[in-house]
Amino acid sequence: MLATLVAAAVLPLAGTTVVIDPGHQLGNHNFPSSINRLVPAGGFDKPCNTTGTATNAGYPEATFAWEVSVALRDRLRSLGARVVMTRSSNREDRWGPCVDVRGRAGNRIDADLKVSVHGDGSYAAGASGFHVIAPADRSPWTSDIYRPSLRLAGAVRTGLLGSGFPVANYIAGGDGLDVRSDLGTLNLSDIPTVMVELGNMRNASEAAVMTSARGRARYADGLATGLRRFLG
Ligand code: ZN
Repeated sequence: MLATLVAAAVLPLAGTTVVIDPGHQLGNHNFPSSINRLVPAGGFDKPCNTTGTATNAGYPEATFAWEVSVALRDRLRSLGARVVMTRSSNREDRWGPCVDVRGRAGNRIDADLKVSVHGDGSYAAGASGFHVIAPADRSPWTSDIYRPSLRLAGAVRTGLLGSGFPVANYIAGGDGLDVRSDLGTLNLSDIPTVMVELGNMRNASEAAVMTSARGRARYADGLATGLRRFLG
């Protein structure tokens, strides 16, 4: 017991709690009425969830998000963090959770941060690169978290840049950061939170990275470095 405590105490993320939200359950497209049901999203209603995108060859965003999230979870746990996931499977016969549940995940357990993992699906010619989305300052929803969430966004961007990923060339500002007020997943959080669009799945060269185990490991490395930077 004593040895366990000593070992835990020296791990860099011991005592921290991280919520990972792997966007879109794989089976969402099989449950349209459940997925289209309106839920609270922070002062307005939005559909429970969407189906997500895919590569042109059909590799689903849900599977990409799941596999990166599991790899990230394992890295954070090995650093001593407690990790909670908003879904525990990637299956065609499951749907959800809805954005309101994803948004509130972490509030009751007083987690240190929440990161939502996504891939984007832009058809704009040449669109590629990652971007990190932080919540806008919307009273009363995010006034308490938008500042630390921006810090978290900057740390995650630094981590992904360090893993060799370029910032998105199709998002206004061009700095790899975006601020949005329309996402229930961010609006309903009481803990620092960001959503990452790790790459454009409709871009052939980026899809090649996102569909490879090595590419996904590199995304997980970059995210882990960024979260560790934020958690200090
Ligand atoms: Zn998505």
